[in-house]
Amino acid sequence: DLDATNGHIAFSNVSFAYPDGEEAITNVSFTVSSGEMIGLVGPTGSGKSTLMKLLMRLYDADEGSIRIDRTNIRNISLHSLRGGIGYVGQEPFLFTGTIEENIAYGMAASESEIIDAATRANADEFITDLEDGYETEVGQRGDRLSGGQRQRIAIARAILKDPEIIILDEATSHVDNETEVLIQQSLEELIEDRTTFSIAHRLSTVRNADRIIVLEDGAIVEQGPHHEL
Ligand code: ATP
Ligand code: MG
Repeated sequence: DLDATNGHIAFSNVSFAYPDGEEAITNVSFTVSSGEMIGLVGPTGSGKSTLMKLLMRLYDADEGSIRIDRTNIRNISLHSLRGGIGYVGQEPFLFTGTIEENIAYGMAASESEIIDAATRANADEFITDLEDGYETEVGQRGDRLSGGQRQRIAIARAILKDPEIIILDEATSHVDNETEVLIQQSLEELIEDRTTFSIAHRLSTVRNADRIIVLEDGAIVEQGPHHEL
């Protein structure tokens, strides 16, 4: 069960092609230590998101293995695998309902836990400024909130979930500078002491990563700390 893990990850000779597609991942191997922050960099279409989809088992690799704390992820139930991974993407998934429901996202959480997660995500202030506060209806897919607000709701959700592994897929695009600072702070709060993958197009975006993995055409072409690349 992932609840008992500490977030060590090993990809061994992983290859994958989408059904009816060309090979998207070719013989990828790397290990990640518990608590390490990995920057995953590469041009569009290089396979960054696909690699993370394999980790979450949205698809199964065709060859090779992915292990979390030595257990092949095929032998972990999808429920506990995904329960152990927090994902914050470019277009955060919000559903019709209140802010509170969107942060809790099916988890049994008390009101004070929800407020605490929102506060750590730099979201409590804008939420309490709304007329209905945490009871505010976000609209279809959250369209009554701004992109930066939706992003912080997604981060609050991930903080509340408290997983061992975090995946950030270009989590600060399309926001103004002030919002970017707020989001960046809350992301630091989120990834503290967790194994983290931070996906970016540019090396400079992930210069704080412990290690950077550079992908091209589905294969690793370079890896190391920022100053060595
Ligand atoms: P970006 O920086 O644009 O997000 P990426 O590095 O995340 O790019 P992927 O989305 O992993 O790239 O795509 C890798 C390859 O797999 C690309 O050639 C892409 O066209 C292909 N691909 C991605 N998703 C699918 C899919 N659902 N079905 C078929 N092919 C796909
Ligand atoms: Mg992508």
